Amino acid sequence: MAEETRTSSGPAGEAPASSSEGHGGHRPGPRGPRPAGGPGGAGREGGRKYFRRKKVCKFCVEKIENINYKDVRLLAQFVAESGKIVPRRLTGVCTPHQRRLSSAIKQARNIALLPFAGRAM
Ligand SMILES: [Zn+2]
Repeated sequence: MAEETRTSSGPAGEAPASSSEGHGGHRPGPRGPRPAGGPGGAGREGGRKYFRRKKVCKFCVEKIENINYKDVRLLAQFVAESGKIVPRRLTGVCTPHQRRLSSAIKQARNIALLPFAGRAM
C-alpha cells in the first residue's frame, strides 16, 4: 500500500503533452442564441393569440350527424380563408365529424361552393 499509484502501463517514457500548444479545449466567444438569464420564467400564460373557445365538437352539440355539403355556411366555418380545412385542433371538432366535414368540404369544392386550397399561384 505504500507504492505510488502506477500509471496504468509500465515505465514507458511518454512525454507528457507539453509541447503541443494551441489546441485548447475552450473556444473563445460563447455564441448562440441563448442569452444567459432571459426574462425569467414567464410562465405559460399569455402565449396564445387566439382566445380560447370551448373545444366542443359543434356537430356533436347540435347533433348533426350528416354534414350536408350544400350547407356552405356551415362548412365555411371550418375552412380557412386560404381555402384550407381548419385542423381539428383549432376547431375542436371530433374525429368522426371532422372526417365527414372534410369530405363534405371536398364535395363542396367540387361543385365550386368552396375554394380549393392554394388555388391559382
Ligand atoms: Zn362530433
